[in-house]
Amino acid sequence: MPLENMKAMLNNAAGDSYAVGAFNILDYNSTKAVVQAAEEANAPVIIQTSAKTVIFWGAAAIISWVKQLVASSSVPTALHLDHCKDLDLIKECINSGWTSVMIDASSKPFEENLALSRQVVQMARPKDVSVEAELGAIVGVEDDIHVKEQQAHLADPEQAIKFCAEVKPDCFAPAVGTAHGVYKGKPKIAYDRLEEIATKTKVPIALHGGTGLVDEVFKKCISLGCAKVNISTQLKYAFIDGFVAYHNAHNTEYNPLKVIDAQFNELKAGIIEKIKLFGSAGKA
Ligand SMILES: [Zn+2]
Repeated sequence: MPLENMKAMLNNAAGDSYAVGAFNILDYNSTKAVVQAAEEANAPVIIQTSAKTVIFWGAAAIISWVKQLVASSSVPTALHLDHCKDLDLIKECINSGWTSVMIDASSKPFEENLALSRQVVQMARPKDVSVEAELGAIVGVEDDIHVKEQQAHLADPEQAIKFCAEVKPDCFAPAVGTAHGVYKGKPKIAYDRLEEIATKTKVPIALHGGTGLVDEVFKKCISLGCAKVNISTQLKYAFIDGFVAYHNAHNTEYNPLKVIDAQFNELKAGIIEKIKLFGSAGKA
């Protein structure tokens, strides 16, 4: 199937209280793991790229392997650019065939965030590309964006309503207490605020910083309006651990294709598990 944007898949998810997994890929092998996991689970899926990964491989290389893998897939699939502050890179991804982008101007003052996010929506709409925008500051490290705990602040519900009414994003990422990377201690999620923002903005919510949350927290966030769940750090671990574990168990073998296959299986198993947890299995 050709790639599609996130709009229909997130609206379906929000209306049916499940979430679509957005998995950050690193290379061809991890993309293949996302695509095959989604097919096996018969789930809609979002292939997500960090800005860093796009810069590392180049947009042309990524779009070619994504299109090749998705062509034979039978489930709805979007290609989404995660946290991006650079309008030129956003434009490049839109022109290269990404079907969805995130503008992260959350470190800017409110009015500036609003203006930049609106500009990206205007850039994306004519190309049928969906847009995710962020409000508030999500703690942790995502790509080269470092947010210290003392700088993190939750999205304000009144500002969230104004922001969504003016920007009209297809997906909204308000900071509600989750963190990027690995949690230090127990996450304090502002469920009341999440529920209020989801109900009042009526925009499908993206849950960032999913790695390390326990199953019950995912389920609660999804029941309160999170229709997209981002999984990045978990895949970074599976990518390295899958590789290392195979080599440690067969340390005289030096057969790279077997190592790559072991890495693929480790990634795919973790992705299927999350798809089932988010309730999107069987929803393609
Ligand atoms: Zn994020």
